[in-house]
Amino acid sequence: MSKKVLVFIENKGGKLRNVSFEALTVANELADGGEVNAVLFGPGATEFVQEVSQYGSNKVYVLEHESLATYTTDAYTQALCQLIEEVEAEVILLGHTAVGKDVAPRVAARLGAGLVSDCTGVELEDGEIVFTRPIYAGKAFQKKVFSQGKVFATLRPNNFELKENLVQAEVIPFQPVIKDLRTIVKEIVRKTASGVDLSEAKIIVSGGRGVKSKDGFKPLQELSEVLGGAVGASRGACDAEFCDYALQIGQTGKVVTPDLYIACGISGAIQHLAGMSNSKVIVAINKDPEAPIFQIADYGIVGDLFEVVPLITEEFKKVLV
Ligand code: FAD
Repeated sequence: MSKKVLVFIENKGGKLRNVSFEALTVANELADGGEVNAVLFGPGATEFVQEVSQYGSNKVYVLEHESLATYTTDAYTQALCQLIEEVEAEVILLGHTAVGKDVAPRVAARLGAGLVSDCTGVELEDGEIVFTRPIYAGKAFQKKVFSQGKVFATLRPNNFELKENLVQAEVIPFQPVIKDLRTIVKEIVRKTASGVDLSEAKIIVSGGRGVKSKDGFKPLQELSEVLGGAVGASRGACDAEFCDYALQIGQTGKVVTPDLYIACGISGAIQHLAGMSNSKVIVAINKDPEAPIFQIADYGIVGDLFEVVPLITEEFKKVLV
């Protein structure tokens, strides 16, 4: 049965997030002949319509309300609720990002809809949408089917194929009524330096307690720069104050699915694996041959990371720089 699918397009610092385009690709597979629509938020949002059209959207709703210039839970909840009711969307897809995780459950609860979070698979089977999501910190996967009513799903970034599908979208301005805001964003101070966004990075070089100090992260930083990737960390490294918690990967940190994950001095605790075990290729560098990380690694290097990482960096420099 054809479905009306709406995709929440997320703009982070003036750039649309890749996961929004991945969600549009999924939406086109789910719509089954129905409508795929997208929604852009904030003043100046119209300039992104062309980019959104490349991934297949019949209509792009543009909400250029000034209260939507930066994300706030209150304003986005109100705006999204009104839009969904107006367009009668049945399936609403968002990225499993900080924003998606915040706004999806609120809007779903207000509209009495279902929600499946952190989906790693979404398929159409006999006309029904089957959502796959990890449970027990990624040890098992659960399949969910919503046969009736509206459903929201947040999709894990970097987990769905991206397919270009140019459709000349109809642009529809929508003016939500936003009132009684309890929060106003006055300034955004970014904690991490600019660079590749960890949750969407294709290559991650991650450090654990084995890195031993803040300075110990420098060779990892250098390797990630040569590879055009991002630096991540275990909670062990964050707790030891070697790096910022914004880098933490795992059950209580970020969930990542890069093409290449290089774990340096990380033992491989279940809580860390929960955030990275879906990476396409895992390389582990650890001086303990019994470290559990080697059980899930595609390639293992038993050795001292302070010797191995600079050697790898030099080799990559020869071919990449
Ligand atoms: P360790 O376990 O101490 O491992 C350090 C590794 O470095 C060792 O294997 C050692 O052999 C190796 N090493 C040492 N020196 C060198 C060297 N010179 N060269 C090479 N290797 C070296 N953890 C997370 O990562 N993310 C989470 O989100 C998370 N959430 C949690 C939630 C809960 C509720 C709980 C209870 C725990 C959570 N943890 C999380 C913590 C987790 O259980 C582990 O304690 C943590 O992942 C360990 O970090 P680590 O691997 O860096 O440190």
